Amino acid sequence: MSLEKTDAIVLKTVEWSETSLVVTLFTKDFGKISAIAKGARRLKSPFESALDLLSLSSVVFLKKSGESLDLLTEAKLLRRFRSAQVGLLPLYCGYYASELVNALTENHEPIPGLLDSLCHALNELDRQANPAWTILDFELQTIQRLGHTPSWRWCVACGEEIETDRQSIAFSPQAGGVLCTNCTPMHRSYLRIRPQTLQTLESRSTQISDSNPANMIAEQTPPPVIPAPVRAELRLVMEQIIICLSERRLRMLDYLEDLKR
Ligand SMILES: [Zn+2]
Repeated sequence: MSLEKTDAIVLKTVEWSETSLVVTLFTKDFGKISAIAKGARRLKSPFESALDLLSLSSVVFLKKSGESLDLLTEAKLLRRFRSAQVGLLPLYCGYYASELVNALTENHEPIPGLLDSLCHALNELDRQANPAWTILDFELQTIQRLGHTPSWRWCVACGEEIETDRQSIAFSPQAGGVLCTNCTPMHRSYLRIRPQTLQTLESRSTQISDSNPANMIAEQTPPPVIPAPVRAELRLVMEQIIICLSERRLRMLDYLEDLKR
């Protein structure tokens, strides 16, 4: 057992006893942790509002070995997620971002930069930036940090560069990328997407990996204007990638329909 201090975002809280909560936190240095917060349900909680969903807090916890829950001993609020006052869509987007991190990460496996990405996305939602781009960039950053960026340009089966002067291109979320015309018949399930959708995904992915040090897209870059069918396809592709990676449909995806419009 060791006492650890780090920054963390609150992903989830569950009642544990009459006075305690189990909190799921995504931390800067230790990845995701699940910890008991004793007294957190009391009226005069020692944690005050530091354990509200999506709060950024400075935490101290006792790291237990094996499968045991860690023990949260301190939490101080650094930044509150305010999108509940902004509107329902940014609020749902925030919940979705936390569900995504929770679904794709394992306890005690640090993922460098992911806490910064999540903080950045929550800030963008709070300041009422375009939620569709905020979520797309966050999804792309997350899968990139986890090493799951799909192949947007080269056939995932044979490595050939795909021809983009076509009406549609085959993309297989299961195989992890685009398929050339020769390899497409060998695959049973794939999406047919517009070249513009693919170009948008590739260029956003590249911008994310090129921008340093925090790997954020420069805020002055205005989001490109894209037609509605492409917006809908962007959501479809990302949803299918996330479903493949998490092996289920995340609950909050159903609340993000407005991002397609
Ligand atoms: Zn191929």
